[in-house]
Order: sequence, then C-alpha cells, then structure tokens
Amino acid sequence: MKYIGAHVSASGGVESAPINAHEIGATAFALFTKNQRQWVSKPLTEENINLFKENCAKYGFQPEYILPHDSYLINLGHPEEEGLTKSRAAFLDEMQRCEQLGLKLLNFHPGSHLNKIAVEESLNRIAESINIVLEKTQGVTAVIENTAGQGSNLGNEFWHLKHIIDRVEDKSRVGVCLDTCHTFTAGYDFLTDYDQVFHDFEEIVGFKYLRGIHLNDSKKALGTRVDRHDSIGYGFIGNKFFEKVMKDPRFDNMPIILETPDETLWTKEISWLKSVE
Ligand SMILES: [Zn+2]
Ligand SMILES: [Zn+2]
Repeated sequence: MKYIGAHVSASGGVESAPINAHEIGATAFALFTKNQRQWVSKPLTEENINLFKENCAKYGFQPEYILPHDSYLINLGHPEEEGLTKSRAAFLDEMQRCEQLGLKLLNFHPGSHLNKIAVEESLNRIAESINIVLEKTQGVTAVIENTAGQGSNLGNEFWHLKHIIDRVEDKSRVGVCLDTCHTFTAGYDFLTDYDQVFHDFEEIVGFKYLRGIHLNDSKKALGTRVDRHDSIGYGFIGNKFFEKVMKDPRFDNMPIILETPDETLWTKEISWLKSVE
C-alpha cells in the first residue's frame, strides 16, 4: 500500500501539521519541527508534544509515515571545525525533537564540501556526524536524502549514499530518501530506462535502506544539477513516470511526500496518485 502526503506547514506549532495533512487527504506527511532557516528555536513544550501525538492518533498518522526534514543550515560534512560542531549540535537537537514527538525518521541533506576538502573526506565527516548523533539518541533513523548536486552539495551520486552508510556503525538506524526531482537532475535517466536506474540503486545502495520518497516533478532538465521542483505532471519528468512509481511495490509502506510548489494542487495531486496506484 502507498502512503502519500506532502510537506505541510507547522506554523502555529508542530501540532498543526497532522491537521493540515488530513485536510489534503494525505496518509503520510513531512514537516519541520523547528524553523528551518534558524539555528536555534524554542524547545517543544509539553503541550506541543501532547497535541501533536493526539492529532496524529485522531487522523490515523503512524510515525512510520511521518518524515520530518531538518534545517537547511546544517552541514554534517562541513570542512571547518566550527561549522561542523555547530551543525552536529543542531542535528542532535533535531533528532531529540523527533524523539520527543515519538517519531522514527529524520530526513536530511548529507552536506557540502564547499570546495575546501575532498569529496570522500566530506562524506567521511557526514558518516562520523551520524555516528555521534545516533549514539546520543534512541529510536530515530537518520534518513539521508539524495540531492541534485547543486554547487558543492554531496549526495547526487548513489555511491555517495553507500559511502556514508558503509561507515555508519548502527546500520539499523540509517536509511535513504530518494527525491525524484533530485535523482533526475543529478543525471539518472529514469524516463529512458526506469528499470536500469532502480537496478543501479538496488546494486549500489539497496532498497532495504529506502525509508521514504520525495515525489516532485522538475522545472529543470536531466543532468542539470539544479534543484527546482515542479508540480506533478508540469515539469520535465511527467505523469507517466509517477504512474510507474505508484504501481511499483518497491515503494510500498513508506512515506511518499510531495514537495511540489503549488500547495493548492496538493489535494488533486494526492487523489490522482491514488487513482493510478
Ligand atoms: Zn530535502
Ligand atoms: Zn526533497
């Protein structure tokens, strides 16, 4: 079965996210548990936590289908000590918020080498960051998102994901999230050869690590390494691919999250996706 939703607003408090998700007919959702553009946010209150759990129960959202996203400021592969330390502390805070909310997954972008250290060195730092944070927390899986590879962002090649996973000590708490827009603009041509791309993913990373999908069309062409999401069916990827994903059992039983730019289309997008499942 497919669990489909969107990255919904949590403004006014995390407890509003499950309500917003329910309103668009979602069976999964993503959210930020703090302001994604600030280093420090107020801690969650007892009230936030209780209401969040109540609303999730009320609308039938289980933690397995909720995919929180961390702050965009965090760089777990940072080439400099100060930036790395700050990022690790912020990531730990994000993981602890998930723990408090009873969530099981935390989705994040791996990091950037900023053209100051080698790709492998930055990937090693990311793995080390994950190890540090997993050791201090319980029950939450670190879910690495693949990227478009814009600038010096890592995670655009499947082997980057493997390189990190190989170095994570607790393999039971590391996973990946595939963003369809990022995969496409990173250069994986699933329009020409769907089977080959996901065969490569299986060979290099493995579906056993797949914990979620970001389902986005792309405003940019194959291999451009630019991250610009488009609404489903409006961009370079097109409906046929999304239909295939909906029919593919390898994407069952995980959160499938829209991060498409026009929120007013979410209800329609979700109902169309369910209709082609
Ligand atoms: Zn993301
Ligand atoms: Zn994404």
